[in-house]
Amino acid sequence: MLAGVSLVLGLALIVLWASSYWLHLSLTYWGSVGPNNQRSYQLRSLPNHLTVEFMDNIFPPANRNDYIPTRNEGFSESRWETNVNRYGPQGFGPRQVPTEWFYIYSSAGKAVADPAIYYSTWIIIADWLIAPVFFTLPAIWWRQWFIRRKRHGLGLCEKCGYDLRATPDRCPECGTIPAGVVEKAT
Ligand SMILES: [Zn+2]
Repeated sequence: MLAGVSLVLGLALIVLWASSYWLHLSLTYWGSVGPNNQRSYQLRSLPNHLTVEFMDNIFPPANRNDYIPTRNEGFSESRWETNVNRYGPQGFGPRQVPTEWFYIYSSAGKAVADPAIYYSTWIIIADWLIAPVFFTLPAIWWRQWFIRRKRHGLGLCEKCGYDLRATPDRCPECGTIPAGVVEKAT
């Protein structure tokens, strides 16, 4: 079950990876704007890479209402935002392929016209570095399935590999009753 979910996620990553040269995708959660703080989380697909960004915007309470239209496009509640854009002059802009495999970057600053000070942490990771996370479990599952099948074909115990040719009904080594035995009895 877990291996199956992992495989589906892995295949989704491959699709995202393949599309990453044409499409810029972003999924952003904008936290609600408190008296003087907003936190946002963003997941993005860049060519060959995924990025995760955590950002805090801190502003004096007096500037809260200036902040909302400046940095939150007029929303003060929490919300999700998704964007899918093609690269190119009419889309997201020129395609830039990050050179890092894995990189963590923190920055803080303030734009002149912006009432907030931002603190941002940005993690960038290559798609190929993430892929093993999702494909390890399915690979282990597949290997175990292959070994069981192989042992079954050779007349060995599927669980421990003991030779069952003399005792086909039950493994004398580990007690496992082979799957085919019930079928033979009926
Ligand atoms: Zn056995």
